[in-house]
Amino acid sequence: MKTSAAEAQFGREARLQAPPGVRVENLTVRFGQKTAVADADLTVKSGQILAMVGPSGCGKSTLLASINGITDLVPGVVISGQRLVGNRPIDTMSSGILRRRVGMLFQKPNPFPMSIIENLEFPLREHGVRGRGQRREQARDALAQVGLWGEVKDRLKDPALTLSGGQQQRLCLARALVLEPDVLLLDEPCSALDPIASAKVEACIDSLRGGYTVVIVTHNLAQARRIADEMVVFWVEHDVGRIIEAGPTERLFTAPVHPTTRAYCKGLAG
Ligand code: ADP
Ligand code: MG
Repeated sequence: MKTSAAEAQFGREARLQAPPGVRVENLTVRFGQKTAVADADLTVKSGQILAMVGPSGCGKSTLLASINGITDLVPGVVISGQRLVGNRPIDTMSSGILRRRVGMLFQKPNPFPMSIIENLEFPLREHGVRGRGQRREQARDALAQVGLWGEVKDRLKDPALTLSGGQQQRLCLARALVLEPDVLLLDEPCSALDPIASAKVEACIDSLRGGYTVVIVTHNLAQARRIADEMVVFWVEHDVGRIIEAGPTERLFTAPVHPTTRAYCKGLAG
């Protein structure tokens, strides 16, 4: 896909500036007769971490994956409302640029069935980074950023699938970071990991604050409270997922307005 000069500016040079924020306005997503999420509004300020919480099936993954247009690929989906990255509607960006600027991580680590180093160098090649030395340097930086360099530097050519689950998840985070995104979307990135691996991934996510704008879905309320600046609480009402409350994370735990939020954050509901 062709990249215009203005679009190409995002990425490396743009890293010197604060990352763009994200805004979702009045978003409704339907899969056939099913309304997965309705009338959702949210704002993530530049460089902040926003947590999405709520029981299963209330539209968190659907909303998350709509921010980089993945939800739009589901056959028969109907989406209304606005999604903006840095004040720019995502439907005005090419899909190549959008995916590069907005990276994603899923619950199950999904490294490419390639070597550890190829997991980073392959996407760089695909995105036109020329020069082996340049690719190797960016790959090493990304591995260091997720604390993996020391663990894998002597086995870079081993298959990525020989890594532990937690290492695979950090490799996937490095693979997203190597493309120098502005925004990261994380869908329960720690739920498949043991507590120690989970803590390492969480520390990586925490370190992204300021440099990236982050949206994370998590079932772990304690984790949301530790890492998120802001939180949105989802619930299903009349079979439709909705955001019932949003605000600074600490406020939602200490002074929730919605009775359901109060019960959920105390572990009494959901
Ligand atoms: P959550 O991430 O909060 O668990 P999801 O966003 O995955 O919720 O799903 C919200 C609702 O939308 C659920 O009822 C789910 O079954 C439905 N849904 C999600 N994806 C699809 C799809 N591709 N086709 C039909 N229904 C879907
Ligand atoms: Mg989900």
